[in-house]
Amino acid sequence: MRIFNNKKDLKDCLLDYKTNKKTIGFVPTMGALHQGHLSLIEKAKQKNDIVVVSIFVNPTQFNNVEDLEKYPKTIENDILLLRSASCDILFSPSVTEIYPKNITSEKFNFEGLEHQMEGRFRDGHFDGVGTVVKALFEIITPEKAYFGQKDFQQLQIVKKMVEKHHLPVKVKGCPIYREEDGLAMSSRNARLPKEQRSIAPFIYKTLQKIQQKFDTKNISEINEWLENEFKKQPLLTLEYFTIADEKTLKSAESKKANKKYRAFIAVFAGSVRLIDNIRLKN
Ligand code: AMP
Repeated sequence: MRIFNNKKDLKDCLLDYKTNKKTIGFVPTMGALHQGHLSLIEKAKQKNDIVVVSIFVNPTQFNNVEDLEKYPKTIENDILLLRSASCDILFSPSVTEIYPKNITSEKFNFEGLEHQMEGRFRDGHFDGVGTVVKALFEIITPEKAYFGQKDFQQLQIVKKMVEKHHLPVKVKGCPIYREEDGLAMSSRNARLPKEQRSIAPFIYKTLQKIQQKFDTKNISEINEWLENEFKKQPLLTLEYFTIADEKTLKSAESKKANKKYRAFIAVFAGSVRLIDNIRLKN
């Protein structure tokens, strides 16, 4: 695996591959890698000649300084994992490499997707995501880029950005990879205190129950049931729960035929914020 910290050297290397008609698959990450990330790399390996992974903790997508400062950094272990996954290229730039002038975000219009769910609780988050993903796409110019459905809103926003800016890349969504007990894998899980870690699978168990209830109950009944479930869990604080249209990400009040729905949740386990979601069958 080749490692680049500098975009010029990376571009020169990629140009060689492109001249030889090799296809490039790209997996952007913030590091502290786990099996969830590796599952994206595996998908990229299946469909592309060369896989590039980036590790960059993007300051402009953090709305909370403490979250940025405490974001786990495990680069040596990440490199071992990437080698074991047969990643071809790691791009691990400094902040000044990506933001040579000011560490600020471009302002995007994602046609309302950015105002739902995470957007209501993480001011400026998606402008930060759009800025860094666009910058990385411009440096790497991949044919395909892989994103996890774990961050479903982010996935839809990146698709919208690609469509609106006519970027020549296909964005692929990949399934959520979970721990054996159902907790969605996340770099933040390592920060969970023991007690919170043992109760955290409750989040996915509750989403699975909602999947069942969606057949027979209406949305307001489900919302009420969920709020009551979380009231019984003193170690977990519900930030939001919503059943939303997969396309618009707007909260749904009633089910409509030929729409696809997903349940989305954000929960605080102590100071650690966890998100998850599940597809619902209409
Ligand atoms: P992050 O490093 O957390 O910014 O994540 C980098 C990419 O990995 C994003 O596209 C995430 O959605 C994806 N990802 C993170 N956790 C998981 C998971 N448990 N399953 C699938 N994809 C994931």
